[in-house]
Amino acid sequence: MRSFAECGQNAFVFESVDRPGEYSVGGSACHDRFCVPCSRDRSRVIAQNVLEQIDSRQGRFITLTLKSTSEPLRVLLARLTHSFTKLRRTRLWRNKVVGGVAFIEVTWASGSQSWHPHFHCLVEGRYLPRRELSSLWFSITGDSYITDIRFARDNRHVTHYITKYATKCLDHSVLDEPEHLQEAILALKGKRLCLTFGTWRGVCLTKRIEDGTWIQLGSLAHFLTQASAGDLQAGSILDALEIRYVISERGPPSPTVTDVSGSRQVQCMLNYNAEFRTPWDVN
Ligand SMILES: [Zn+2]
Repeated sequence: MRSFAECGQNAFVFESVDRPGEYSVGGSACHDRFCVPCSRDRSRVIAQNVLEQIDSRQGRFITLTLKSTSEPLRVLLARLTHSFTKLRRTRLWRNKVVGGVAFIEVTWASGSQSWHPHFHCLVEGRYLPRRELSSLWFSITGDSYITDIRFARDNRHVTHYITKYATKCLDHSVLDEPEHLQEAILALKGKRLCLTFGTWRGVCLTKRIEDGTWIQLGSLAHFLTQASAGDLQAGSILDALEIRYVISERGPPSPTVTDVSGSRQVQCMLNYNAEFRTPWDVN
């Protein structure tokens, strides 16, 4: 809990040796699966690896959902995973799908007061008729029809999809309710949130792709202090990183900047707007 709470503190600014003028920010990372900045960092890596894996072959996005029931999430997740395993053993699936990756997403439907777990998959293979998949999914699950199939248009489409679903296994319907969050964390304990199948089985999607050597320029707090005191060089580096700062009218750096520099708020802002890099990822 402490490393989760302190995730992103002690942030440092790095500059690429190979591409001078390219900056990034790194800090202590908790690597917890429910930490949003850490998940964003991880999902970017997964998206890069997925692109490398799918290369120029045709990809399709498939959503497999379960009908909402009042059952506990743990039971529904087990049923979803089991049904997906069964689906992958069917003739239709094996004829049309070569391999792929699936991500679990869990939402809470406040209207029906029930859990709604589903799989978002990217599959490599041939045309898969939606009606056939839907009726097959119904025969496996016994009560669920809903499937969705979309064509992956290009690399950007794939990156967007993967980054989205590899980041959030839980959305605000779960995160905003402590009671739901607790049930979800317990139900997902030990469960793989991302699974590969077919020819993709065993492919490591979290492998870091090398992007050269980076040097540490100093702490982010130092850059914020310098920039807020009017230092143009520090300011231009923060601008390049899309990190906001306030230039104080006179004298010492403004308290706003000092206050914000160690907080979660900056951490989130950094990771939404700039590249996130942990010190141990840097050569
Ligand atoms: Zn974290």
